[in-house]
Amino acid sequence: MTKEIIFSVTKKDFDLTWYSGTGGGGQHRNKHQNCCRIKHRATGVTKTGSSQRTRPQNQKEAFLSLTNDPKFKSWLKLETAKASMDKEAVDRQIEKEVNNSMKEENLKIEAIPRYECDECEYTSITEFKKCPKCGSKEK
Ligand SMILES: [Zn+2]
Repeated sequence: MTKEIIFSVTKKDFDLTWYSGTGGGGQHRNKHQNCCRIKHRATGVTKTGSSQRTRPQNQKEAFLSLTNDPKFKSWLKLETAKASMDKEAVDRQIEKEVNNSMKEENLKIEAIPRYECDECEYTSITEFKKCPKCGSKEK
């Protein structure tokens, strides 16, 4: 069986910002805004990497921290399940949606009149050739 990528998280899913760290760590870090703040747009999970000296290292640190976040993890799990088209998972999701739509507050079905009389404005959900109220014939 060949493995295929069913779901991937790309750079576009994140906002990266760089800032200068405070405290210990040397001038180099403070001058060059080497600290990384990473925000995952879909979940809003934000992590930082600031213990390293270089940008790539801090970015890696921030990213690793983000991937260990429970909220991010569950988001990833859900998205992966969706993308994998797991039939059972999809069915469960559909069932959930159906059950939800069957809730009384969501059941608002309006009867569309199939007969409207031009003369007396009688309407009915039943079709008529002739208006049962005023006897006017359908054009
Ligand atoms: Zn009529």
